[in-house]
Amino acid sequence: MVWLSTTTFGIGPILFEIALAGHCEERSNLTSGRIRFLVTDKPLTLYNQQQIQKQKLTNTESNTVSYPVMEHFYTLQGEGLHTGRAAYFIRLGGCDVGCVWCDVKESWDASIHPQMTANEITQLAAANPGRIAVITGGEPALHDLTALCNLLHGEGFKTHIETSGSSPIVGAIDWVTLSPKKFKAPIQEALDLANELKVVVYHHSDFKWAEEHAAKVGKDCLLYLQPEWSKRDSVTPLIIDYIQQHPQWQLSLQTHKYINIP
Ligand code: SF4
Repeated sequence: MVWLSTTTFGIGPILFEIALAGHCEERSNLTSGRIRFLVTDKPLTLYNQQQIQKQKLTNTESNTVSYPVMEHFYTLQGEGLHTGRAAYFIRLGGCDVGCVWCDVKESWDASIHPQMTANEITQLAAANPGRIAVITGGEPALHDLTALCNLLHGEGFKTHIETSGSSPIVGAIDWVTLSPKKFKAPIQEALDLANELKVVVYHHSDFKWAEEHAAKVGKDCLLYLQPEWSKRDSVTPLIIDYIQQHPQWQLSLQTHKYINIP
């Protein structure tokens, strides 16, 4: 496989992937040589370059893999670097983290949510013009996301995940938002993949906890502090002060809640 970016030639972030049969063992669905052109509107460095994990499913096989889907909807990403961008959210059921303050406890039991095939989910997402798919939960890393990511990529999506980092991430994810939880610590394997670390702040003591996790992510990982919604009036001023003194951090707000969208 050969990756060429036109940024190399100074003309913008267009990526050419040239995959030749027999040259890419990780893409078992490649049966003949092909050339794919992928045009992005962001510099490629924004996305994981190590993203292509083992994918042993053909697209036909991926079609039939199913997931417990709590809800899915088209909206704007409200948090982190991609704030304000159109995105299709896919909330999968199942969580083993058990945060006492969790506001989506109904997501915990995967068995109460309807199963949808990867193909059904992808087709619903692809009916919209946006090409970011955010896989969230629950704890979406409890699921093998290979099939879903395969099909979403086939429709031109960038695949994003919002995870606590407490389980290994399986699937070709382009953007990892890791929000650590005190009830089940993130594993180093997930911290290594994080593109943005988002620490929700409830109390002044959370800044120390945030720094402990910042020390474990890669040097290019973006660092965000986000006020817990119910504490936003008291905590946001603390975060502003902290970022002014520690400018490696940035403020993330739950903007979707301020503008009353999902
Ligand atoms: S990880 Fe998320 S879904 Fe799971 S208990 Fe914590 S807040 Fe709730």
